[in-house]
Amino acid sequence: MAESDHRVMIGLEVHVQLNRLNTKLFCGCRAEYQGLPPNTNVCPVCLGLPGSLPVLNKLAVNHAIMVAKALNCTISRSFNFVRKNYFYPDMTKNFQISQYEKAGGVPVAHSGWLGFANDSLERRIRIRRIQIEEDPGRLEHPEGIGSSKYVLVDYNRAGVGLLEIVTEPDLASPDEARVFIQKLRSVLEHLGVCDTSREGAIRADANVSVDGGNRVEVKNISSYKEIVKAIEFEVLRQTKIIEAGGSVSRETRHWVEAKGMTISSRQKEEEQDYRYFPEPDIPVVSLDEDALQRIFDSMPELPDARAKRFVEQYGLKSYDANVLVLDKGLADYFEETVRLYTNPKTVANWIQSEILRQLNEKKIEINQLAVTPGYLAEMLHMIETGEISGKIGKRVLVEVANTGLPPRVVVERLGLTRIADVEFIRRVAEEVFRENPDAVEDAKRDQEAVNYLIGQVMKKTRGRADPEVANKVVRQLLNGG
Ligand code: ADP
Ligand code: MG
Ligand code: ZN
Repeated sequence: MAESDHRVMIGLEVHVQLNRLNTKLFCGCRAEYQGLPPNTNVCPVCLGLPGSLPVLNKLAVNHAIMVAKALNCTISRSFNFVRKNYFYPDMTKNFQISQYEKAGGVPVAHSGWLGFANDSLERRIRIRRIQIEEDPGRLEHPEGIGSSKYVLVDYNRAGVGLLEIVTEPDLASPDEARVFIQKLRSVLEHLGVCDTSREGAIRADANVSVDGGNRVEVKNISSYKEIVKAIEFEVLRQTKIIEAGGSVSRETRHWVEAKGMTISSRQKEEEQDYRYFPEPDIPVVSLDEDALQRIFDSMPELPDARAKRFVEQYGLKSYDANVLVLDKGLADYFEETVRLYTNPKTVANWIQSEILRQLNEKKIEINQLAVTPGYLAEMLHMIETGEISGKIGKRVLVEVANTGLPPRVVVERLGLTRIADVEFIRRVAEEVFRENPDAVEDAKRDQEAVNYLIGQVMKKTRGRADPEVANKVVRQLLNGG
């Protein structure tokens, strides 16, 4: 039986770092902690020293509200924070300030959805809740988890703002989870609340069940790229157990990136062990309607609206527009190129074929590609003016991507300019005729043979001959001219 014969249910708990803020969630330390010497981006508040008091970052709340609105959630007009108590070296306070819908807690938002198209199917994944919480510090096992004799701890990240976005178990396949994450990333990038390409910016726990069996919670997925891999592995593992006549046990597993597999981990604390209670040091947050409306009004264009505009303004097909806006970088790249070369459909075609191929082959993001919008536009101009053919253009693009040189330089260096010189093409054609007497004989009756001869002329000029001239010259020679 194929995997698709099984009913798969996936629910995600996605952690999004609010890494576009200047400061952490409750103190003045920098939100951007990457690349700093260990334990230099800390203060009494994020270290939880006695007597220090947290102050809520107002902009973090604004960012959370924007995300909640973009995900069609109901936003709580009044909400609080809770303490989640646990002992672990990544949090010096021995509790994490978080939100929670039980134990007298109210999260910032709940009951939303995120929509996307998958295989021409309109999908809506329900969002159960969004909560604001602080990131813990980072533990480093110098010789790998399990084999290190000691652990290093770095609190630079401790206290950075996070959003936890919890979905209902509406995702029906790993592929759907992939599109969901892409769409979520695009929304976050458009809102400007998260640079999702930064290390650790998006982490997740994935809950997976197959055929209504027990759900397994896969923890420790540390980047958006790993989420789909972890889910694929877990679906396959559970499917195999079920097909062998067994049943899946309810457990927590860890995603081990280096091995590409999930492994069983000791059941962690039960909910009641966290002894959640309302955070006494942070007052209840109340939002008034005017303040909310001001935040909504300040929100930038979101992917769905942008796709609609691409259809109306540039005449793109809805499918193509949706592919572009699924990646904010790609949509920006498209509009930048169209500003320089005003044929949107041609630009969209090139991006969806050759540019995406380069990104896949090189496993890079669009902003890392050496073919800038300026270079793509320059090359498209060269095709339009007939300096190079479309086919040569594809080669030029690959060269530009590999070398970073401007298209014009690539064309000159490789001698790729189109040949429109009739006399030259006639000499090549005569050579082709001498080498292919049978084809020449056939060509008097057979159109296929004519095309073959033209093809040989193109081949001998490495695609540089002007196809129209080649066509004309071959026909003239066949007619004895
Ligand atoms: P907990 O609080 O123990 O983590 P929740 O009920 O809050 O459990 O659910 C956590 C996640 O598990 C949610 O994302 C939810 O969608 C998902 N989930 C719940 N039931 C299932 C299921 N049967 N299969 C897969 N995922 C599930
Ligand atoms: Mg959970
Ligand atoms: Zn601090």
